[in-house]
Amino acid sequence: MRYLILFSVLILAACNTTVKKESMNMTNLRPTENSIKIAIDSLVKKHGASMVLPIQKGVRHTASLWTANDGSESEFINFCTSAYIGDAKSKFLLFEKLSTYFESLGGHFNKITLDLRQNVDLNNGELLEIDKIFSGYAAGAHLQDDLYLNKIAFVVALNFPYYNLEEKEREGKAWNRAQWAEARMGDQFISRVPAEVTQGVAKAEADADIYIAEYNIRMGSLRTEEGTQLFPDNMSLLTHWNLRDEIKADYADKDKGLVKQKMIYNIMQHIINQDIPAKVINNPAYIWKPYSNQVLENNATITCSPEPNSRYRQILNNFHAQQAVDPFVPEMNTLIKRKFSGEMEIPVEEVEALFDGYLKSPQLTKVGQIISKRLGRNLETFDIWYDGFKARSEYPQEQLNGLTTQKYPDPKAFEKDMPEMLGKLGWSKERAAYLAEKIQVDPARGSGHAWGAGMKGEKSHLRTRIASSGMDYKGYNIAVHEFGHNVEQTISLYDADYFMLNGVPNTAFTEALAFVFQSRDLNLLGLTGQSKDQKDLNILDASWTLMEIMGVGLVDINTWQWLYSHPEATPEELKNAVIQISKDVWNNYFAAVFGVRDQPILAIYSHMISNPLYLAAYSYGQIIEFQIEDYLKGKRFSDEIDRIYKQGRLIPQDWMKHAVGNKISADPIIKQLDEVLVK
Ligand SMILES: [Zn+2]
Repeated sequence: MRYLILFSVLILAACNTTVKKESMNMTNLRPTENSIKIAIDSLVKKHGASMVLPIQKGVRHTASLWTANDGSESEFINFCTSAYIGDAKSKFLLFEKLSTYFESLGGHFNKITLDLRQNVDLNNGELLEIDKIFSGYAAGAHLQDDLYLNKIAFVVALNFPYYNLEEKEREGKAWNRAQWAEARMGDQFISRVPAEVTQGVAKAEADADIYIAEYNIRMGSLRTEEGTQLFPDNMSLLTHWNLRDEIKADYADKDKGLVKQKMIYNIMQHIINQDIPAKVINNPAYIWKPYSNQVLENNATITCSPEPNSRYRQILNNFHAQQAVDPFVPEMNTLIKRKFSGEMEIPVEEVEALFDGYLKSPQLTKVGQIISKRLGRNLETFDIWYDGFKARSEYPQEQLNGLTTQKYPDPKAFEKDMPEMLGKLGWSKERAAYLAEKIQVDPARGSGHAWGAGMKGEKSHLRTRIASSGMDYKGYNIAVHEFGHNVEQTISLYDADYFMLNGVPNTAFTEALAFVFQSRDLNLLGLTGQSKDQKDLNILDASWTLMEIMGVGLVDINTWQWLYSHPEATPEELKNAVIQISKDVWNNYFAAVFGVRDQPILAIYSHMISNPLYLAAYSYGQIIEFQIEDYLKGKRFSDEIDRIYKQGRLIPQDWMKHAVGNKISADPIIKQLDEVLVK
C-alpha cells in the first residue's frame, strides 16, 4: 500500500457533511457567454490571432470556475484581460514561480498531515480520542478556497488551462517536457469543491481506516468444534491482509496447513456476512468456535450479538461523502469517473475490458489444474491465494523468521541496511546513499505503508509493523514492497526535471516498482533458492495472482456502480448486494477454474472499506510490473529504474511506451504463459 497526499489530491480530497444550499447554488452562477466573448475578443486583439486557441481555452476554463462570489461580470472580464500572459518567456517565468510556491504549500501540508496522523499510523502507545480527532482533521481543506479568494487559482486556470484525458492523449503526443509540466500545472484547478465537503471525505476515510486498523482476529482464541487450538496464543491477525498471508504461509505446513486455511476462510465468511460475534473482534477474552459460531466465556457458551453491518456502513459513509462532491465536478460527477478517468487516467470501460479479456483466458483453467496436481487435492476457494509457485515457499517460515528477526530487531535496523540493499540491486555507493538518506523507517500501528514526501528536503516514510521480538518474515516481505514505493517516491520527486511532473502516472506505476522490489526479497536476504524452473513458476504465479486481484478489483468497481444506481441503500441492502456481486464475479470467471460456484471470497479485501476503488490499481501494478521485468532482462536494474522513474507523471500509456516501448497490455503474460503450458 502507498499513501501520498499530492497537492492536487489534497485540494480535491472530500466527506459526508450536508452541502449547504448556497454552496450548491455557486455551481450555477457562472459568467455569461457574452462576458466570455468580450474577454476573448479583447485578448485576441491584444496578443494576435495566432493565440486564439489558448486564449479561448484559458478564458473558458476560468469562467467554468468563476462564481458570482469571485466578482461581477465586468470584474471577470478585467481579470482575464489583465492576468493573461501572452509572451512565452514571461509565461514560463510565471510557471516556475508557481511551481516553487506549490511545492512549498503541498510539501508542508503533507508534513502537517503526517504529524497529525502520527499516533493513528504509528505504534506510539495508547490511542486517545484526541488522536482520532486530529487524524481526521484536514488542515489543508481550506487551501483551495483561499487560492480562489486570492485569485491564484484563476491565474493558473487562465494561463495553464485544464486538458481532459482525451485531449492529453491526442495533443500530448506533440508536447515536450515543459509543456507536459504546464499541463500538470493546469490539472490543479479542475473543479471547485467546498471545504466542508472535502473535510467530510477526509473524515469518512479516516474513520474507515481506524475501523480496519483495529480489526484483528485473535487466532489463539479460536477452537475447532472439538476444542482444538490451531494457532499460537499470541497470534493476532489483521483483516484481511494478515489472514490472507497466513493462508499463504500455511501451504508450507504439510501437517495442519489445510485445516488452518479452512478455518481462516470460514472466519472471512463471517466477516463478509457480518455474523461474526462483535465481542470476538480484537478481543482475546473469549473463545470462539467459528464453524458453529459459538462464543465461550469461562468454558460456558454465551450469547453474542453479531457485528451490526459496520463493515458496510463504512462503505456507505464513503459513498455519501463522495456524493456530496459529485455536483461540484461536472466533467467527472461520480467517484468512479474521478478515480479512473481522473486519478488513474484510464477510463473505467478500458479497465473492465482489460480485466474481462484476461479473466476469460482459457489458460487459467490449466494453471488451476497444475495447482490442484501440486496440492494433490481438488482446488479450494482460498487457493486463489496459492503461492506455492513462489521461491519463498521452499524455505520454512521458522528459518525465514529467524533470519529477519535477527537482522531487523527494530525499524532503525532496517533503515540502516537500506544503502546495502540498494547496492545489492546495482546502485553505486553514492547513489544508494543519496536515495536511502531520503527515506525514514517508522513502526506502523496497522499494516505497512509508504508515505511519500511532498517537497524536496523532506523524507518519505516507510511504515512497517514490527513485533517486540523483531521483524518477522511476513513483515519483512511487506517492508521490502514499501521500500520499492519509497525509492520510486524519491526518484520521481528529487530527480524529475520539473516539480509539476513529480510522481508517477497513477498508483499502479508505483505498485509496479513495489512488486519488482518485493520479488527480490530473498535475494536481499542473501538467499537464492531459485531452481532452474523458477522462471516458469514465476509466470504461473503472476498469471494466478493477477486473476485473483482482477477479481477483487471488479467486485470493488461493481459495488460502486451498484451504489450509484441505489443511492438510498441501507447497510443491510449494501451487504446483500456486495455478497451477490462477489458471487457473480466468481461465477463468471472463477467457478470454471475452481469447480465450485457461489463463493463470496472476493468481498474480503479491506481496501474496499478504507480505500474505495483503489484495488484495480494493483492489477495494473502487476501488468506493468510484468512488462517492466520483461524489459529489464539483461539490462542493469538500477540504471533502468532511474531512467524510467525520472519520467515522472506523464499519462499512463505514454509513460509505458517511453519505459518499455509498448502500451499497457496483459498479452505478454498470456504469451509467456502459453510457452510454459506447452512444456
Ligand atoms: Zn503497495
